[in-house]
Amino acid sequence: MLYLHPIYKKMRDNYNKDLAKNIKSILTEIGETPEREGLMKTPERVAKSMSFLTKGYKEDPAKILNKAIFAEDYSQMVLVKDIELYSLCEHHMLPFFGKCHIAYIPNGHIVGLSKIPRIVDVFSRRLQVQERLTDEIRDCLQESLNPKGVAVVIEAQHLCMQMRGVQKQHSSTTTSAFSGIFLNDDKTRSEFMNLIR
Ligand SMILES: [Zn+2]
Repeated sequence: MLYLHPIYKKMRDNYNKDLAKNIKSILTEIGETPEREGLMKTPERVAKSMSFLTKGYKEDPAKILNKAIFAEDYSQMVLVKDIELYSLCEHHMLPFFGKCHIAYIPNGHIVGLSKIPRIVDVFSRRLQVQERLTDEIRDCLQESLNPKGVAVVIEAQHLCMQMRGVQKQHSSTTTSAFSGIFLNDDKTRSEFMNLIR
């Protein structure tokens, strides 16, 4: 458990209370009875869960990376595959989830490997569109680490497509973002694409 100063804890709890009040109104609006037993604690639970799922707004991904950058001569591709990803689409606030693959080619510096999934979490725990999420991860790595290039691929399923709207239940969406050598050199990009296949 992360230590939280009582003042911040109070701020967080108050925030949750306002959120919970609004969730309770939503329950009434959709025709439910918020007072019935099964729903008594739902507004509070949803508020807490919503705060968790959007906590990326309060975190600074560049800061997380900058704390773990080390000088190193390694100059081959560094690839982290199959990073689990859970986010909320900004149009419907419904989940989209899947996998993220990230590679970079160092330029004198490397970053602690555990920080790569961490920044995926920070950007995912905000309201997103998959396209922007992909670009934001690439840009953050490119700017903080200044490598020779970054490649990001996200494959995700969107509940807003699957549960409502077109109801295409098995479709998945792939987005990619490249910089530097991954953009300019076909061979490097194909090597990455082969490795994640
Ligand atoms: Zn959506």
